[in-house]
Amino acid sequence: MAAAGKLSTYRLPPLPTIREIIKLFRLRALKQLSQNFLLDLRLTDKIVRKAGNLTNAYVYEVGPGPGGITRSILNANVAELLVVEKDTRFIPGLQMLSDAAPGKLRIVHGDVLTFNIEKTFPESLKRQWEDDPPNIHIIGNLPFSVSTPLIIKWLENVSHRDGPFVYGRTQMTLTFQKEVAERLTASTGSTQRSRLSIMAQYLCHVQHVFTIPGQAFLPKPEVDVGVVHFTPLIQPTITQPFKLVEKVVQNVFQFRRKYCYRGLSMLFPEAQRLESTGKLLQLADVDPTLRPCHLSLLHFKRLCDVYRKMCDEDPHLFAYSFREELKQNKGRTQKEAARETHSL
Ligand code: SAM
Repeated sequence: MAAAGKLSTYRLPPLPTIREIIKLFRLRALKQLSQNFLLDLRLTDKIVRKAGNLTNAYVYEVGPGPGGITRSILNANVAELLVVEKDTRFIPGLQMLSDAAPGKLRIVHGDVLTFNIEKTFPESLKRQWEDDPPNIHIIGNLPFSVSTPLIIKWLENVSHRDGPFVYGRTQMTLTFQKEVAERLTASTGSTQRSRLSIMAQYLCHVQHVFTIPGQAFLPKPEVDVGVVHFTPLIQPTITQPFKLVEKVVQNVFQFRRKYCYRGLSMLFPEAQRLESTGKLLQLADVDPTLRPCHLSLLHFKRLCDVYRKMCDEDPHLFAYSFREELKQNKGRTQKEAARETHSL
């Protein structure tokens, strides 16, 4: 019979509740930093369970705040937890958790948008991209204003296999405003289909794992919150550079209610717009009258592949931005108008 003691899991010793920690350290949520705290440890446990099996895992938690999710991660038998928190007021409360879990919790006062994770975890955790994901997980409940730019940055990291993905296909479990979670996971034809759906899904398997009602947070945000799990794909659906994919996708969705040729035509300078858009759509075998939300990942793959060829043939094409052209034309018209007024 196995010795029961050896199988027992790690639990934090009794601690003040998160509500008591908030009171003790006077951690009033700052509205300007969009801070909303999770106090219900059953919910934080659920987020952590959805991240997968964390036994002996190395975890990177972004924005731990008063430490609700942090406690659930520490209770999941992890090897080590690194937390990065921007607001110094939370550091003493986190220090208390660190004292309760000796050797397990590393606290960094810093900004997740600039923190370099590449050398933080042991080299031995690295896996080949084609292997199973490494035993490293990213978990976080960040302000919505940070989570969207951060996921775009991390998706670019996935495409370059750098940042948190130097270790392999590191999995992420993150919260977003529910509408953003729906956009990230929207399938072809869904009204929520957007730039984020394509950028996330061509690189990752993306799952909206559950929704947390706004009232579970203190203070209550205006919206509900979606928990989204990401696993980078071994083979991305589109193999062109991230910036090129981003440009094509952005152009398509800027006229989301029009036929797709409208947005795609803006990839080309006015003088060649008609001809080049026709060529792109024909070579990519895409029906010009499809709406952006009806374009599949394979449509985008073909559009990006053909656009890449066209950029290779015309070295100025990729740098072309119709917004810049618009700005310059506006500037010119204003200057001309000013000259005319002056000469009157
Ligand atoms: N994780 C805690 C919870 O679920 O109760 C706190 C959530 S609160 C929505 C977001 C946390 O992220 C706050 O503690 C805030 O100070 C922190 N934060 C915001 N921007 C950050 C950034 N750029 N880098 C690190 N932490 C950040």
